[in-house]
Amino acid sequence: MSTWETVIGLEIHAQLNTESKIFCGCATRFGDEPNANTCPVCLGLPGALPVLNRRAVELGARAAIALGLRINPTSIFARKNYFYPDLPKGYQISQYDQPFSADGELEIMTAERDEAGHPLEWRPRTIRITRLHLEEDAGKNVHEGLPNVDRYSYIDLNRAGVPLAEIVTEPDFRSSWEAYDYVNHVRRSLQWVGASEADMEKGNLRCEANVSVRRVGDQKFGTKVELKNLNSVRFMQRAIEFEVARHIRTLESGGSLRQETRLWDDKALETRVMRSKEEAHDYRYFPEPDLAPLIVSSDFIETVRKEMPELPEARRKRFMEQYALSFADASQFVSDRSLADYYESAAESSGNARAAANWIRSEVLRELESRSMTADQSPVTAVELASLIRLIEDGKISGKQGKDVLVEMFKTGKSAQAIVEEQGLVQVSDTGEIDALIDEVISSNPDQVAGYRAGKEALIGFFVGQVIKASKGKANPKVVNERLRMKLQS
Ligand SMILES: [Zn+2]
Repeated sequence: MSTWETVIGLEIHAQLNTESKIFCGCATRFGDEPNANTCPVCLGLPGALPVLNRRAVELGARAAIALGLRINPTSIFARKNYFYPDLPKGYQISQYDQPFSADGELEIMTAERDEAGHPLEWRPRTIRITRLHLEEDAGKNVHEGLPNVDRYSYIDLNRAGVPLAEIVTEPDFRSSWEAYDYVNHVRRSLQWVGASEADMEKGNLRCEANVSVRRVGDQKFGTKVELKNLNSVRFMQRAIEFEVARHIRTLESGGSLRQETRLWDDKALETRVMRSKEEAHDYRYFPEPDLAPLIVSSDFIETVRKEMPELPEARRKRFMEQYALSFADASQFVSDRSLADYYESAAESSGNARAAANWIRSEVLRELESRSMTADQSPVTAVELASLIRLIEDGKISGKQGKDVLVEMFKTGKSAQAIVEEQGLVQVSDTGEIDALIDEVISSNPDQVAGYRAGKEALIGFFVGQVIKASKGKANPKVVNERLRMKLQS
């Protein structure tokens, strides 16, 4: 295997998150009655003229900026001609030799995975993005769930004219996991800046992979295969693995590969041929005569940039510097914008960034996951979490009590202070009370006392545990620790 190098390039189609279609006023809503959202423009009726949706351009610009692309001052829409029943005009309005944006360099974090799918070592990797252009989606043929489908095909044109950003990379990926991490990075970035919902299950993010292999050291690319029908990032990764193994097996046994398009079958867990290169389309692109060139001013780009939130990678780096978070913690918090906001707010209002990270990573996320909620839906706000952290910091309640209080906060929506008062949860820091407990523990564990005094200092943990247990979790561990050491030495 090690004598072969994998070469992968990716194309992503992301639906831009507009209310209306790219060249008409029809709604882009998902799940409406078939053909409810259509008009003469998106039905391709004679004489109807397209008008560009400004919002689609703004969201395309957000996507381009988030992915590190340069936005071209002038771009040209072009007709991509092909015949298919779900394409009523007989062509798709896309962009060709003068795309909306180009020449991106995107740094992603990537890691190979072990057998169980756990990441090994995370490392940065720069991926060149060739272009991001704007285009319209086609409609959908329906072959199931309607009368006489054995004799008829049905067409739903609700999707026809929905705005897409097509994002194409150079063949820069060297493993299926790099491709996997890139697609997840792009999804997260597009969601983060509000450019796209980027939900593969709803079909508003789709990807295709060009895969080939070559001998290590070869400059020339091997014969490539185009993979389609990749309905999840995981399927894409598996399909690439399957193809790489097939290519190597074929070449090592002296066979040759054909340039073709293959589909992933997620039941059989294999790819199969869709069409060979000989059947590939000649799209006869030419400039769209019904649309003026798209001219984007630097003021426009600046306005879009100002409206955008801080990007996830920048925020991850800032979290690591400002709050001394590990890479793993910071990455987890920026995996979702509402979680990043939640963390930052808890860190700021508790004044303890470390404690806020620990509480969120363990307790808060577990509570949220069990309710299938995101951080912005949390019944316990970041500010309320911060007041719980302060109660523990100030020694009012113990960390162990704090965990129970948090569970109660999630259940009842009450504040930490209210629960502490209701349940009479007060941490005991009074040395008189604690000393009495310590004396009991010392007198009932003579062997451990002798052991400690003979030099087994690790036994201190045992004594602390016993005293806290005797106090029903109320004793302040710091005070217990101090008093115990003193008493055990005497
Ligand atoms: Zn329409």
